[in-house]
Amino acid sequence: MSETIFSKIIKREIPADIIFENERVLAFRDINPQAPVHVLVIPKKAIPTVNDIHPEDQELIGELFTVAAQIAAEEGIAKSGYRTVFNCNEDGGQEVYHLHLHLMGGRVMHWPPG
Ligand code: AMP
Repeated sequence: MSETIFSKIIKREIPADIIFENERVLAFRDINPQAPVHVLVIPKKAIPTVNDIHPEDQELIGELFTVAAQIAAEEGIAKSGYRTVFNCNEDGGQEVYHLHLHLMGGRVMHWPPG
């Protein structure tokens, strides 16, 4: 299991603005927010990329979305709308190789992205 900055956040070895936690999932505010609300929802299990999601992870991946939707409601952006994104590998713009769901909202999200 490779060590990433996010596994250090899970272990509380480095600080983060954590807004949700249960046995399986952690959510914290992005350190370089691209929108007024920018939260990262991550599994505690170290899955590097979307390519590494296996059938046994399906329930866990679904939970990332139910947690994201709950946070969107709490942050007041559920009705106005938001974007959820997994970046995968180099062309996808992935920088941290611990799976994370970006939840971004609080402004109009343009499409297509750059
Ligand atoms: P990605 O490019 O999809 O891998 O996204 C990585 C995200 O992690 C970026 O939006 C970074 O701003 C964010 N990030 C990196 N380090 C931290 C940190 N220590 N705490 C919170 N967010 C971070």
